This record gives sequence, C-alpha cells and structure tokens, in this order.
Amino acid sequence: MSDPVVIVGAGLAAYNCAREFRKLDSSTPLTIVTRDGGGFYSKPMLSNALAGNKTPQSLVMKPVEKMAEELNATILVRREVVSVDAAARSLQLDDGTTLAWRDLVLALGADPIRLSLAGSAAGDVLSVNDLDDYARFAERLDGVRRVVILGAGLIGCEFANDLLARGIEPVVIDPAGWPLSRLVPQQAGQWLQERLAAAGVAFRLGRSAMAVLAGDDGYTVELDDGEVLQAGLVLSAVGLCPRVALAEAAGLAVAHGIVVDRGLQASAPHVYALGDCAEVAGLSLPFVMPIMQQARTLAAGLAGNATTLGYPAMPVVVKTPACPTVVSPALGVAEAIWQVEADEAALLARHVDAEGRLVGLVLMGEATKQRQQYAPQLVPWLA
Ligand SMILES: Cc1cc2nc3c(=O)[nH]c(=O)nc-3n(C[C@H](O)[C@H](O)[C@H](O)COP(=O)(O)OP(=O)(O)OC[C@H]3O[C@@H](n4cnc5c(N)ncnc54)[C@H](O)[C@@H]3O)c2cc1C
Repeated sequence: MSDPVVIVGAGLAAYNCAREFRKLDSSTPLTIVTRDGGGFYSKPMLSNALAGNKTPQSLVMKPVEKMAEELNATILVRREVVSVDAAARSLQLDDGTTLAWRDLVLALGADPIRLSLAGSAAGDVLSVNDLDDYARFAERLDGVRRVVILGAGLIGCEFANDLLARGIEPVVIDPAGWPLSRLVPQQAGQWLQERLAAAGVAFRLGRSAMAVLAGDDGYTVELDDGEVLQAGLVLSAVGLCPRVALAEAAGLAVAHGIVVDRGLQASAPHVYALGDCAEVAGLSLPFVMPIMQQARTLAAGLAGNATTLGYPAMPVVVKTPACPTVVSPALGVAEAIWQVEADEAALLARHVDAEGRLVGLVLMGEATKQRQQYAPQLVPWLA
C-alpha cells in the first residue's frame, strides 16, 4: 500500500480538505492526526453557544468515529506532531511514532495572542479558540455575574452579546476608540457600540487592562486610567497568531503564517498548508469561507488536478444579534475612503478606492438585508 496523505489537525480546514479530497479520490489512504478529541464541530458556534443553550458535548456535530468512517480515514486523536522531516517525507508524534506520508497537509490553526499583564491572576485569563477551551469557559460561568472581555474585535463583541443570554454583564475593554476598529469606520463602530450597550454590554474604550489579581469574589482587573473592575471571569479575545513553529523547525518558509502558493503548496514539495496557520499571497484570513475555497483548491491538487486559488470578496456575518452586522474588509488596498449613510434603523458604510470601486463594506441593522445586492459589487480579494 502507498504512503497515505497525512493531514495534521481536525478543525474546519482539515476536515473540509479531507471531505473535498474524498469527493475526488476515494481510495488513497488518508490519515488525520490531531492533538484534540477529533469530534467535528463548527468553531464559529463557540461565540453564540450560550444563546443557543449549547453544551460542549452538544456542539460536537459528529464524533470522531463517524468522521473516520465517512472519510474512510485513520484518525489519531490526542496525539501531537512534534517534528516534520520534509526531505524524508515523514513526521514524528509525541509518543515517538514515525509516520511516512505521500503528501502532508498542515492544518494547524492559530494560537490566541496573550497580552502581557501584571498581577497574580494574569495566568487565569481564559481564551476560547477550540472546544476544549469552550468546555473550560462554560464550566466556570456558573454563578458568575460579570465577565471582563479583553478586546472589542469580532470575537470579543460576539462573546459579549452571547453572555447577555445568560444574564451575565460583559465589560469590554479595548485601547481602540470603537469596537471592530480594524474592520469598520468610527461611525459604524459607534453605531454597533450604542446597540450593544442598550442591550447590556458595558464598554471601556480607549483603555487597556494592566493587571489581573485574584479577588474575594473572582478577579479584579486594573485599567490604565486607575479604574478597578470586579469580575467573576476574564476572557481574552485580542487576536490570533498562526501556528508556524512546526513548519519553521522543518525549514519551511514562514512569514505571518506558513507561506504557501496559490495551489496551497509550502516551500517544500509535497507539503501543503491551509486554514488559520497558512498565508497565501500575503493574506492570512482566519475565516470559514476562505478556508472552504482553500480546501477545494488543495483537494484538487492532491487528487492530481492542480488549480489556482482565487478569492471573491466574502463578507463575514458578525454574530451580534443586538446589532446584526456584516463586514467585508478591504484587503491590500492602500487608499480608500469610507462613505457612510446611517439612520436609526440601518447603517451602510461603503469603502471606495480612488477608481470608485467598492473595496470594503459594512452593513448594520436593517442594511444587512442588502447584502446580496452589494456583495457582487465588491472587488475580489484575490483575483
Ligand atoms: C470564537 C470564534 C468564533 C468565530 N466565528 C467565526 C465566524 O462567525 N465566521 C467565520 O468566518 N469565522 C469565524 N471564526 C474563525 C474560524 O472559526 C476559523 O478561521 C476556523 O475555524 C479555523 O479552522 P482551522 O482548521 O484552520 O483551525 P483550528 O480549528 O484551530 O484547527 C487546528 C487543528 O490543528 C490541531 N493541531 C495543532 N497543532 C497540532 C500538532 N502539532 N499536532 C497535532 N494536531 C495539531 C488542533 O488540535 C486542531 O485540531 C471564529 C473563530 C473563533 C475562535
């Protein structure tokens, strides 16, 4: 039997790549190695699970045994790949096993960025980036009345909105002046902030957390302006950093993410990467839709029909029911201006470049209904 295609990881990138590959090739041996439990879940659901009354168990849409059966794959769980030898086409697991591969796919995801905070309880700050994290977070929510969230980006705002469903007061801290500051103009950020605040989310914007200390009833969080907040839990949502260490140690080219070409091939033959760990044409896009495009392109290549990855603009739905929001960031566009129209019910922000092209978009409230109208007008992210 020939050596298998080995996929490292069992997130959306790995499983979608495996599914697409199996549509084209049902017989090549396929092995998936993951350091988590291997159950299939949709990571975006982690930040609206409370409103949906989901438990960590019910978030698993398919157990690992079912995935193995459907994909006709061997899935090794709770095993970590510790090194890769690209020239020898082999990898080593943490239990000392060596696996040979025909092709290797790295779908390693990204690590949450940790702020360097002072204080005795800085190490207790949680982040939620996978199912195991979510289980720890959910377990600790019982009896908690207030959660301090570090970061007013997409994930921070989503968790804030979701905590309201449990009657918990979220306080969101961010050094930026408005929420989603990297994605939307100030007027749109303030529009979102007003609606989240009306629903019960407190904000401390233009502020940074400096220290987290253990308190009588949980934690105290000290801010740079001297304010001290009490909280039952502190959640960090300040961004992700692609997991590149394994690739770097294997001598593969790494920039922000693992550098791959538009066929998803890394800098060594027969090694590929996709998902949150990968960087294509200078773009690291930690969203589901780009991953689906990557999975189809990579699967075709693995099955012997290489194609070139392209991205249309793929607007992202921000899961803040208190203020329905859709954003499509302008990628790689140096000069563009925002044109914003807003009333009480709707906000439309068009990001327009010097040639009058629509390079970015924000829709809020009633304007989200215009998504189908505007999305086709957006300049592709990668033509
Ligand atoms: C809370 C939250 C909400 C989100 N909401 C949205 C949304 O609404 N819309 C959207 O488009 N995107 C959203 N995203 C982003 C999206 O979910 C991610 O881009 C996507 O799930 C990443 O998938 P991945 O497979 O690349 O990474 P992951 O799902 O992180 O998978 C990485 C896998 O690699 C394994 N692994 C890593 N290192 C090793 C090793 N050395 N050995 C073995 N296994 C290893 C891990 O165990 C894991 O199985 C959200 C993200 C978060 C955190």
